[in-house]
Amino acid sequence: MSFTAAIVGRPNVGKSTLFNRLVGKRLALVDDRPGVTRDRREGDARLGDLEFTIIDTAGFEEAPAGSLPARMREQTDAAIAMADVVLLLVDARSGLMPLDKTFGEIVRKANKPTILVANKSEGKAGESGRLEAYELGLGTPIPLSAEHGEGLGDLYDALREAL
Ligand code: GDP
Ligand code: MG
Repeated sequence: MSFTAAIVGRPNVGKSTLFNRLVGKRLALVDDRPGVTRDRREGDARLGDLEFTIIDTAGFEEAPAGSLPARMREQTDAAIAMADVVLLLVDARSGLMPLDKTFGEIVRKANKPTILVANKSEGKAGESGRLEAYELGLGTPIPLSAEHGEGLGDLYDALREAL
């Protein structure tokens, strides 16, 4: 089965860390053309027996708190349009921020199979942030630590269910 997954969410939630973890060294393409596709990365991901295309969306660390610059919005919309399943990441350590709710709305309106991922969930520090993530109305947040490689089995199960 071949499918495409898009990783979306506000800056600093760990999108690129998850991308790198799923792709390993099998980076297929770095698209650095200017415009809306800038900084979008695609790679060949593997998780258990699943092989799929994964899209990372860029950081835009310069975005003022709470705002959603047009280019971030365009890039997110483009990635979602290409995707069969959307991974919306939130940061379980920081808790929900206004921009997470904005991304939650975008993803909800897209009406695609969506997996809500509470990243940075290693240890106990992520517990309350993960519970907060229910407020997005996108189902059960999957606890994950992209950095430490924890929760990948649950992500696998969620992908299987979403497809
Ligand atoms: P992006 O802006 O969403 O692409 O986020 P990055 O992947 O660049 O990660 C932002 C920061 O969060 C970096 O300092 C990462 O090392 C850190 N990070 C990513 N995943 C995890 C995680 O699972 N646990 C913790 N504690 N930190 C993480
Ligand atoms: Mg990134």
